[in-house]
Amino acid sequence: MKDGFGREINYLRVSVTDRCNLRCVYCMPPEGVSLLDHDDILRYEEILAVLAVAKKLGISHVRITGGEPLVRKGLVELVRGIAKMGFQDVSMTTNGTLLADHAELLKQAGLKRVNVSLDSLRPDRFSSITRTGRVEDALAGIQAAIRSGLRPVKVNVVVMAGWNLDEVADMARLTLNLPLHVRFIEYMPIGPSEGMEELSAVPPGAVMAEISRKLSEKLELCAAPPGAGPAETWKLPGAKGTIGFISALSKPFCHSCNRLRLTADGKLRPCLASDIEVDLREVLRNSKGDSKVRKIEEAFRRAVLSKPRVRQLWNRESQARPMCQIGG
Ligand code: SAM
Ligand code: SF4
Repeated sequence: MKDGFGREINYLRVSVTDRCNLRCVYCMPPEGVSLLDHDDILRYEEILAVLAVAKKLGISHVRITGGEPLVRKGLVELVRGIAKMGFQDVSMTTNGTLLADHAELLKQAGLKRVNVSLDSLRPDRFSSITRTGRVEDALAGIQAAIRSGLRPVKVNVVVMAGWNLDEVADMARLTLNLPLHVRFIEYMPIGPSEGMEELSAVPPGAVMAEISRKLSEKLELCAAPPGAGPAETWKLPGAKGTIGFISALSKPFCHSCNRLRLTADGKLRPCLASDIEVDLREVLRNSKGDSKVRKIEEAFRRAVLSKPRVRQLWNRESQARPMCQIGG
């Protein structure tokens, strides 16, 4: 599918739940967000029905996300169902805290690779940023992913001044001995994060400067790992892994955006930074047979054609949905 600006759209991020076992400061308010009713969340067979049509329309890459995908029961079976459909790439984004028990099963079910979010290596700080989590669990999840042969394993670090900027060199050092691809992500002011006004984006230059200040080795530009998307990729000399920067604010990558999102409640979202949504759940629940397939196709075409050329300015007030509902 080509959008109105000639971009090939071949990547769908599927949010399977808005629930999460953590409360990261940049993603959710401390009390959590008001949750969708269970009945409003797409059932697995509905997700598979959407993906069957998506594949026919040219979607080749699928990422499962949330909320925290691993809190949803039966997720391994959903992965098996998606993998059987023959997509070129099936991946997952997870906070990793439940991954140790799932990595092997997910690999066997056909998951190719995993991105694990990890914003600190320090137990007290990890617990402050996630408000509830234990860093040991996330690290065990990352180790299990490596052991199970999920490749590449990427680690997403949202860099926040005053929270974890002083740890970026330690994160970079992880790549020396582990085959990890650490990506420093710029914080995006999205969703209702009242009370977190002190959160501010750190541009990639400041992260690089902090790494160079603390490490004697010089970063070298290198080839990106598979599925690198918009990350610029670097390497420490002799390292097993790489380092990347994803900077949606200071270096927007709209010109090469190839993705759509499916929210947990069945809305196709053409752009993360815009509230435009096309409803699929109504079609899934109120149509049958060929007419259902035709209407799903139409919804995809409408979503693709309403992709904006560039993102609107991030605006908290207009961003009604938090990341955990959109599927980051
Ligand atoms: N729960 C899973 C996780 O944390 O990996 C998957 C969902 S989470 C919404 C997906 C990604 O979005 C995570 O890497 C998280 O760090 C990132 N994210 C959430 N809110 C963000 C924000 N305001 N700015 C930048 N990244 C954000
Ligand atoms: Fe949960 Fe992921 Fe949001 Fe953190 S970033 S609160 S782990 S959905």
